[in-house]
Amino acid sequence: MRTVDLIRRKRDSGELTREEIGELIAAYTAGDIPDYQMSAWLMAVVLRGMTRPEIAALTESMLHSGQVLDFSGLAGRKVDKHSTGGVGDKTSLVIAPIVAAGGLKVPMISGRGLGHTGGTLDKLESIPGFNVNLSLADFRRVLQTCGCSLIGQTAQIAPADKKMYALRDVTGTVESPALICASIMSKKLAEGIDALVLDVKTGSGAFMKNVEDAAHLAELMVETGKSMGKSVVALLTDMSQPLGRSAGNAMEVVEAIEVLGGAGPADLRELCLELSAWMFFLGERVKTVDEGKKLSADLIASGQAREKFREIVGLQGGDAGVVDDPRRLARARQTLDVTSPAAGYMAAIQCEQLGVACAVLGGGREKKEDSIDPAVGLEFHKRIGDPVERGEPLCTLHYNAGARLVEARRLVETAYRIEPEKPKAIPPLIHRAAIS
Ligand code: URA
Repeated sequence: MRTVDLIRRKRDSGELTREEIGELIAAYTAGDIPDYQMSAWLMAVVLRGMTRPEIAALTESMLHSGQVLDFSGLAGRKVDKHSTGGVGDKTSLVIAPIVAAGGLKVPMISGRGLGHTGGTLDKLESIPGFNVNLSLADFRRVLQTCGCSLIGQTAQIAPADKKMYALRDVTGTVESPALICASIMSKKLAEGIDALVLDVKTGSGAFMKNVEDAAHLAELMVETGKSMGKSVVALLTDMSQPLGRSAGNAMEVVEAIEVLGGAGPADLRELCLELSAWMFFLGERVKTVDEGKKLSADLIASGQAREKFREIVGLQGGDAGVVDDPRRLARARQTLDVTSPAAGYMAAIQCEQLGVACAVLGGGREKKEDSIDPAVGLEFHKRIGDPVERGEPLCTLHYNAGARLVEARRLVETAYRIEPEKPKAIPPLIHRAAIS
C-alpha cells in the first residue's frame, strides 16, 4: 500500500476497502505515516466524504488501535455521555459526578479542545494537579473507588484517535460526519460501557450548523453504537449561542461547580439534568426520563453530586479545595468589555467566532505543540432575545497577554447582531429529545 495512492483515491471521490483503511490507521498509529500525509488524507475525507462501509471500517480500526476495556467484573451498569463539541459546553464536569453519585459507573474518555470548541480534558487540567493521563490500572482503581473517572485517549486506549484528534484540531479537518463519528465512537466503544448518551450540537457554534446535518451525524453514531450491542440515544441540542455564561477552561470549571452547588446558569443546569436523566434511564437506574431528571435534581440539592466531584478531583490528584473555593483556580489579570453599538435586542450570535476568540486569547491551540492558558476566556452577558442598551457590555474578555487582544476583540464585536425588534423565534435548548 502506498499512502499517496490512498490520498489520491479519496481526493478523486473513490472508495477505500476495509483492509486499506485498517492498514492506514495501523501505520499512522505506529508512526509509520507522517502527519503531512495523514493531514492530506483527512482533508480529502472532509471534502469527499465516506461511504457507510468506510465509516464502519474507520471506526473499527480506530477502536482496535488500542485495548477495548472490560469492566464486566465491576458491579453496576456503565454509562457515558459525549458531546460533539461546542462553545461553553462544560456539561461533562457536572453530569459525570451526578450520575456516579446516583450509583452508576461512568468511565469517561474525553478529548481536548477541538477547532473552535473547548475540551473536557483542558478544563479538568485547569484544576491544579488534576491528572487526565492515568494509567489503565489507576483509571480502573478510581472508577472502582468512586464510580467515575475522567481521562484522555492514551497509548493503550484509542491511540489512533489520540493522534488524529490532535492533528485534526490544527489542520481544519474536524467538520466531517465520518471523522467525528469514528473519533467519538472509537473512544466510547473502547470504554467498556453498556450505554451511551450522545449530545449532538447544532447551530453556529457547532460543527454541524443545521439540524439536518446534526441528525445525520446522530444517526451515524447511534447506528454504530447499536451495531456493537450498546444502548445509545442521541439528543440534538442547541449551539446557536454559548452554553452558560462563560467559555474558557478555568472559568468553565467555576460554572460547573456552581451548577453542582444548586446554582449556575439555567440553560446549563437544564441541559445537565436532561442528559444525566437519559444516562440514568439507559443505565436502568430509573424507569422514565422524568424520574431520572428528578433524581439528578435531588442529587444536586442534597450536595451528593458536588461531594462526588470533590472525590473525583482528589482521587485524580487535583486540588479538591477548588470545590469550596474556586478562587484557587487560575484567573486572568486583565479584562476588557465589548459593548453594544446600538439599543435593541440580541438577534443572533456567530458562536463559532466566540470560540475562536477564546482560542486566540490563549484558550486553544493553533499548533499541536501549543500550550493552553487556563485562565483566559469570555464571559457572556446577553442571550438571544435579550434587550440590549447602547453601550451595555455584551461580553467581557479575560486575558493575560495583550498581543492578540485586538484580533480577539474584533471577533467578538462582529459575532453579535443587534436588531431593533425582538426576534420572533428563540432557539430551543433541545431541538429533538432523542434519536434511538
Ligand atoms: N468530539 C470528539 O471526540 N471527536 C470529534 O471529532 C468531535 C467531537
